[in-house]
Amino acid sequence: MQVTEHVHALKVPFPGTTRFVYAYLIYAAQVAMVDSGIAPAKEMVFDYLRKTGRDPKNIRFLLQTHSHGDHIGLSAAIRKISGCQVVAHGAEKDWIEDINKQYRERPTPTFRTFVQESAKVDRVVKDGDTLGLGGGENLQVIHTPGHSPGSVSFVYPPDGALFSGDAIPAAGALPIYSDVFVTLRSIRKLKAVRGLKALFSSWHDPILGEKVYLVMDQALAYMQRVHEAVRQKDADEPSLDGKELTLRVLKALGIPENMASPIVVTTIEAHRKASQQADILKTTD
Ligand SMILES: [Zn+2]
Repeated sequence: MQVTEHVHALKVPFPGTTRFVYAYLIYAAQVAMVDSGIAPAKEMVFDYLRKTGRDPKNIRFLLQTHSHGDHIGLSAAIRKISGCQVVAHGAEKDWIEDINKQYRERPTPTFRTFVQESAKVDRVVKDGDTLGLGGGENLQVIHTPGHSPGSVSFVYPPDGALFSGDAIPAAGALPIYSDVFVTLRSIRKLKAVRGLKALFSSWHDPILGEKVYLVMDQALAYMQRVHEAVRQKDADEPSLDGKELTLRVLKALGIPENMASPIVVTTIEAHRKASQQADILKTTD
């Protein structure tokens, strides 16, 4: 679906569930794609390009917000068809170029369904880099770690568009990040970008207008809520192990406990590590 003048959103469903991930297309002078979705969505993505007068061959840049399986599922296939440059932060390169390594180090149940092939990263980017999309328009790269060490966001100024990947936790959803303060700092970094008119996150439906900054505030407030739940449950029963504490916290947050996984335990442990501090939003950094 076209959302702004140049940006199209692709809502990619996870087979057999109600879950989804967003990938985006930027139809600038050249075609860029932000994340590639999952392998089973190949026909859906390619049909969309053709339906909108493009072709998979036209993609010049595949911009990876990070390396997780639901963001790189079609990267190898698209690179092969189009000869595009796969662009990512250096800290994500390994897991994109070696999916077996990623699976060994971060085994998620759906990984093998979502991604079947490693993709070469052609261009490594860092905070402050720009990428020309033709016609004099540049994408800006912002390093926004927390969800993963090399998570990056991209800003496309002509549409006031921010592509944030998984960097902004969705209030009420499963919180997934490995460092509380690094994540907070990244959200604040994005809040400081002026002139944003559209937020294209992988977790949310596209968000337009003033709500863009509101969603970032809601993410910060949600992190504080998670933090309070962790502190409370930890104080109630200090002997709980990570898994048990996670189950208690998810229950307190109204999230089904069957969504607990080692990855969420990492988030909860990260909050526990910061538990001397009652109000995490008070950090000035
Ligand atoms: Zn992710």
